[in-house]
Amino acid sequence: MKLTVLGSGSPEAYVRRASSGFLLEIGQNRILFDCGGGVFDNLIRSGRLPRDITHLFFTHYHTDHMMDYARLVHAAWDEGAPPLKVFGPKPLAAITEGYFGPNGVLNNDLRARTELPQSQQVWVARGGTLPRPWPAPIVTEIEAGFTYQGDGWALSSAQATHAEPILDCLGFAVTSAGKKFVYSGDTGINDDITALSRDADFLVHWCYRGSGEQLHPATQAFCPDPAQVAEMARSGGVKRLYLSHFRVHMDSEEGHQKALEDLAARFGGDAGILEDLDVFYI
Ligand SMILES: [Zn+2]
Repeated sequence: MKLTVLGSGSPEAYVRRASSGFLLEIGQNRILFDCGGGVFDNLIRSGRLPRDITHLFFTHYHTDHMMDYARLVHAAWDEGAPPLKVFGPKPLAAITEGYFGPNGVLNNDLRARTELPQSQQVWVARGGTLPRPWPAPIVTEIEAGFTYQGDGWALSSAQATHAEPILDCLGFAVTSAGKKFVYSGDTGINDDITALSRDADFLVHWCYRGSGEQLHPATQAFCPDPAQVAEMARSGGVKRLYLSHFRVHMDSEEGHQKALEDLAARFGGDAGILEDLDVFYI
């Protein structure tokens, strides 16, 4: 499995880090986890095109995990790609319809591109046929416990603790050729996510709180700091642990040093802080 980090940041506007996105490549399948703002551009920078994505899995619908969804689907459609398979919690179908349905926010664009003779001419010149269909991602709404069998890989999911009851939030594990990758999404430490992460060869865990940083108690409950994540990963037999979702103020030299010290003291294995466009082989 090849992992490319397409977004290691938060909702904050930040040139160093796009919002969340992780590309996992297994054989001919290219599986994207989350599609936050900036992920689309980093996908291009990584050398892939929108049409290369075969599967998209959403952990939840905070904007920093989905803001580039419409852009990805639209661009892949414009490249003539087959419909993207998209999986995520409810209300994925309504969100997709809200963009690409007959009354969706993009309906004027889509009508113009598919109905105006000059646009049809461009489409046909590029090898397309008429009538030109609208983008139609294949949407599957999922819940915790959902499993999926891909070509040479299997996915499972678990309940994350994050923004309930308004947002249903998931984490994902992918196994392939005896290796296990886990992206636990935005989550507090809970039994389900700990079980999902058990014996992972590579765990991407969110970190929205610097070492020892105090947040609002309600926020802190689902925002483990580096030491707490390291403790969970060590107890679960995780082999490599990388933190994501860093905020601007956490990226000081001192902030990184403290986080890395906390990881080293409690985890011991290969650990670090993700940066956009990092590549790992699992
Ligand atoms: Zn979130």
